[in-house]
Amino acid sequence: MKHTQGNPGLTSQPVWALCLCALMLWTTAFSPGAVTSQARTVRVGVYQNEPKIFMDQNGHAAGIFIDLLNAMAPQEGWTMVYLPCEWTACLQALTDGKIDLMPDVAYSVQRDALYDFHHTPVLESWSVIYANPNRSINNISQLDGRRVAVLNGSIQQTDFGQMMTGYGFKTTLVPAASLDQVFDLAAKGSVDAAIANNFFGDYFYQKYGLAKTTIVFDPTTLYYATAQGRNHDLLNAIDLHLNQWLQQPNSTYYTVLKRWGAQQPAARVPQYIFWVTGIVLGLFLAAAGMVILLRRQVGVRTRKLEQANAELQESQAHYQTLARISPVGIFRTDPNGATTYVNPQWCQISGLPAEQALGNGWLAAVHPDDRDRIGNGWQQSTQLQKASYSDYRFIRPDGSVAWVMGQAVPELNPENQITGYVGTITDITERKRVEAALQASESQLSLIYANISDVLFYLSVEPGQRFRFLSVNAAFLAVTGLKRDQVVGKLVQEVIPEPSQSMVLANYKKAIRTKKVVSWEEITEYPAGKKFGAVYAIPIFDSDGNATNLIGTVHDITESKQAEARILHINRLYATLIQLNQTIMEASDRETLFRETCRVVVEYGQFRLAWVGLIDQTIQCVVPVDFAGDEQGYLSGLSIAYQDEESGRGPTGTAIREGRCVLCQDIATDPTMEQWRADALQRGFRSSAAVPIRQASQVIGAFTVYAGELHLFDAEEEALLVKIGQTISYALDGLINESQRCQAEADLKQLNAELELRVKDRTLQLEAANKELESFSYSVSHDLRAPLRAISGFSEILARRHRLDLNEEGRHYIDNIVQASQRMGHLIDDLLSYARLGRTMVRHEPVSLAGLVDEISRNMQAYLAEINGALSIPEALPVVTGDHTLLSQVFTNLLENAFKYHQPAVPPQVSLTYYREGRDVVVKVSDNGIGIPPEYQAKIFSMFQRLHTEEEYPGTGIGLATVRKSLALLGGSVWVESKEGQGSTFFVRLPKE
Ligand code: ADP
Repeated sequence: MKHTQGNPGLTSQPVWALCLCALMLWTTAFSPGAVTSQARTVRVGVYQNEPKIFMDQNGHAAGIFIDLLNAMAPQEGWTMVYLPCEWTACLQALTDGKIDLMPDVAYSVQRDALYDFHHTPVLESWSVIYANPNRSINNISQLDGRRVAVLNGSIQQTDFGQMMTGYGFKTTLVPAASLDQVFDLAAKGSVDAAIANNFFGDYFYQKYGLAKTTIVFDPTTLYYATAQGRNHDLLNAIDLHLNQWLQQPNSTYYTVLKRWGAQQPAARVPQYIFWVTGIVLGLFLAAAGMVILLRRQVGVRTRKLEQANAELQESQAHYQTLARISPVGIFRTDPNGATTYVNPQWCQISGLPAEQALGNGWLAAVHPDDRDRIGNGWQQSTQLQKASYSDYRFIRPDGSVAWVMGQAVPELNPENQITGYVGTITDITERKRVEAALQASESQLSLIYANISDVLFYLSVEPGQRFRFLSVNAAFLAVTGLKRDQVVGKLVQEVIPEPSQSMVLANYKKAIRTKKVVSWEEITEYPAGKKFGAVYAIPIFDSDGNATNLIGTVHDITESKQAEARILHINRLYATLIQLNQTIMEASDRETLFRETCRVVVEYGQFRLAWVGLIDQTIQCVVPVDFAGDEQGYLSGLSIAYQDEESGRGPTGTAIREGRCVLCQDIATDPTMEQWRADALQRGFRSSAAVPIRQASQVIGAFTVYAGELHLFDAEEEALLVKIGQTISYALDGLINESQRCQAEADLKQLNAELELRVKDRTLQLEAANKELESFSYSVSHDLRAPLRAISGFSEILARRHRLDLNEEGRHYIDNIVQASQRMGHLIDDLLSYARLGRTMVRHEPVSLAGLVDEISRNMQAYLAEINGALSIPEALPVVTGDHTLLSQVFTNLLENAFKYHQPAVPPQVSLTYYREGRDVVVKVSDNGIGIPPEYQAKIFSMFQRLHTEEEYPGTGIGLATVRKSLALLGGSVWVESKEGQGSTFFVRLPKE
């Protein structure tokens, strides 16, 4: 920033002379010694611009600016450090703080924005074109199409360029690193001309063989500069020294200028001349005063105009450059709002060529939906002469849409009249697209936030790690049952109750500390009930890493948790039931049954306490008989009735009285538990249930359980408890039935034993009786035989000797006596024969059936001839094992019967055959006799069983009984097949061995 003290343009010779007297008076007032400063090092950039500033051949800084500084340094206590650099590098070093001061800096508005300047100019300078003498350049138009060298980064570089452009000339600027190079390029003919300040140019142009032209521009003032905001002490000191020196013609300032041959006005005037001139001038002062004043004013005015003109040109050049390279579209209109100019960027944005945009042509390219609004708005703004702002769309020829932000302001002339409007359009298509996308995204997010079934909330993190709800979604309110104003704006502690609160806060802090998403499960009691949630907390941090917010999500897992708990609980109950069945199967008595039931239910069902109470009718109470679990003396203090009275209305009493399962879901509030509540709660019992126990369908007591949880018993659980009650009852009945069955079995065993004993006794008695009877029969038969023989013998003698002595009647009687005696004799013989069987040892030896049958048939020859009978016998008969006597009896009886029971007119035909069956021999005796009715076929083998009278067929009825008994003794058997009137066949089975 340059302080506008004095006028840098007033250092021209006449003015300086005019003020000489006054300066002389000032000189003594401000001696350099009056300046007091602290000792310090001053780093100064030195570039090559001789004679103003440069490094000489010895490497020392030299030149006008250096000498002036060196003159100030001792008085200011400065230690000067000169650092050589090229021009642009020097300026950069100044900005970077690597040097404190840069000399020979021409003032410009742009530089004023970058550096700080002191107020009093050091030198006046201007730029001069020095041309290669071969190019014959004398005026500015001759530079059109030429190449001109210029110091890179110098003020001439921009100013000259703009000036030529403003004139419409095309001159190529060739930048060079130093003025020496600039002149060198011109001297060698690489460029047509060179630009240099008058100091350097005048000092060196002849040396380089260049020609000085009359083209002069860019008058400027030269200063020391510092970086903006720094080293103002240097600038102030410089101003003080300069102001003092300028007032003294023989001051250091002029000495320095003189030394370097600079064309500054006062430097060439010896001091004494000033005194003389002063007196002469004093004489002329009055006469020439007016002239001088006028000249001065003209000079000032001319300079001002020139400066204004240059500024205008500069401004125009700037404006044109800006308009050309501007990233925004620029347009100008006349006072009526009709477009007069658009820049290339405007055309690019709108897609409309510049010529079509003029007037109101641009409106045609505006999107139809925006056209009326923009057209009317623009018309209104121009009528009201106001600035306007609006967003609207262009449709380009290719159909694409460009969103623009348009603005325009009126341009006023110094008389405050509107000369037109200038405006810009900025392409905001991308911004609009992003905005639309953002809006869509936001509305989608809002939709998700509002409608997602999971709980979402947003917290702010306040100092001291306090968390406050900023927003919650609808699901939050639905799940918790809280109202929005009970949550939003509240601290977490005010919303989430303990014990969840401590866990929640700890997890929030953990999320912030670890900078990670933290998840956990929690159970919280809200107005809507106990809620299980899977929670996620996501911390949000600002760019400094400080936690600013937390996002929370909660998935309500209440139902699945409840279902899980329920399944676990039901599984537990089933496990209980299975175990109970096992236990009951093994229980052998009632005491074991009750004890084990209580144990299993507590152990597997995880109840706090289980007990069995039985009715005691004498005291009309339920008496605990067994328990398991956490009893802690609870049962000993229990008084439970089963009648409908106060102490009978709890679960146990009611279950017994009403014969059903009774539940108490909350001991703390259930009115029927009043009497036992305190004791139960003290032991941690929260709910209870009782089921009746039956024996033979009669309720005899109850089974009661206590749980540590509220509302434990649902329908399924109730059903299972009922099942447990029934199981106990069945088991009780089973125990009773078992004891009854055991008793019956014992009775039966005893009875059987008694019966067996009796059977044995009877058998012995019977055997004894049989034996007695047998011996009696034998002895009777035997004893009867002797008197019978006497009767028979004497009656036969009587008949034989005295029959003729008797009359007819006497003979008849004596004949009957003889016949009866004979029959009696046969009977007794047969009986004795039968009785003898088995009394002697039965032999088991080979017996030839052929021989045996032959013997019998021979004995029967006479009888067969008598009755005209025929016996058929096979040629070969087998040898069997047996007793010869017994077998002879068997076959004699059978063959005699076969011939005896023949049909009256039919000669008897009997055959004896045999066949083998396994190891046995079966002998058949077949006849063609009268046959035997079926109903008698089994009976005829019994003693005395006869089917005919003695007159029809004589016999005793003992023959077949003897056959059967004989075969029984031999291990054989006998049976008959017969048809009445067709004959009979008797079968005799004989074991071969
Ligand atoms: P009995 O001395 O009467 O022959 P048995 O014991 O030998 O006594 O026979 C018993 C009865 O069986 C006989 O009275 C007879 O009626 C009947 N009986 C035995 N053998 C025959 C037969 N071969 N044909 C028909 N009847 C027979």
